Amino acid sequence: KAELAKLRELPATTTDGHQVEVCSNIGTIKDMDGAHRNGAEGVGLYRTEFLFMDRDSLPTEQEQFQAYKEVAQSMPDKPIIVRTMDIGGDKELPYMKFPKEMNPFLGWRGIRVSLSRPELFKQQLRAILRACADTPGCGIMFPMVSGYTEVVTAKHILQECREELERKNIPYARDLKVGIMIEVPSAAIMTDVLAREVDFFSIGTNDLTQYTIAVDRVNNRVANMFRPTHPAVIRIMDMTITAGERENIPTAICGEMAGDITLLPLLIGLGATSMSVGVHLVPIIRYAIRNLDYGQCRDMAQKALQAPNSRAIVDLSTALARKSYPALFE
Ligand code: PEP
Ligand code: MG
Repeated sequence: KAELAKLRELPATTTDGHQVEVCSNIGTIKDMDGAHRNGAEGVGLYRTEFLFMDRDSLPTEQEQFQAYKEVAQSMPDKPIIVRTMDIGGDKELPYMKFPKEMNPFLGWRGIRVSLSRPELFKQQLRAILRACADTPGCGIMFPMVSGYTEVVTAKHILQECREELERKNIPYARDLKVGIMIEVPSAAIMTDVLAREVDFFSIGTNDLTQYTIAVDRVNNRVANMFRPTHPAVIRIMDMTITAGERENIPTAICGEMAGDITLLPLLIGLGATSMSVGVHLVPIIRYAIRNLDYGQCRDMAQKALQAPNSRAIVDLSTALARKSYPALFE
């Protein structure tokens, strides 16, 4: 821990000079202290739904503004990526009617809820735009996107919010970046088109795995099939990162997979530009990246993309991880 703490201010640069960003995932302002202490370079995923869940009525626009502002101002010189609420699936709100669904993870969830409740969505968008007014480099991202029309519609509503604030002379973040979560295979397959519409991608490996292999992420009976290293998941991630590179936009990884030291060489080798992990994992991931060789990661990732099964992919990545940072395996 003492060794890791010394790296706090150092960049996550591989031994051959390739720099990767290490950010943290947060749920509430309470996580920001740990993010600071562990030297996060920003927040890669702020899961705003917690603000909506821990209570018995909808937070007002002003309450949301206060909450987002507190987070943004607690790291004023670093990027904060605010994800609009990802309600539905296994997350319900006690004060909002969620009709019983046969397949909630395939139903009314994430951006689908926001787009069908535009007034509610706009409150959140205005609150985010206002909260980030004085903190350059912040971004907003939409969860559970499945295709082009959702992205264009969400951007259109965001633009309406900007215009409303402009008319009322209310300060807002003019440079707010707009990104999407890539966690539904249909969106991943369309990333060549979507890359022209947004400023960044962030791969949510938890849902991407669930939806690609059709394995419920919260069902213990199929938990042994839940493998982010399934070759199809890896190929979809490669497709996404490559589409981003062609349009010059970065691709972060913000699912649990990003915090797995055995799989890090694979993610770096595929070309992910940023890892967003739980606050306590930030120093470990930074240390690991600083001991990797990007060239070796790239070669290994190319082999992994040809592998027939998850086991072979895990073995390739783990071998390079063990060779590069043996101390983390002791
Ligand atoms: C994911 O799906 O990988 C993700 C980061 O989002 P969440 O876990 O909040 O669904
Ligand atoms: Mg998700």
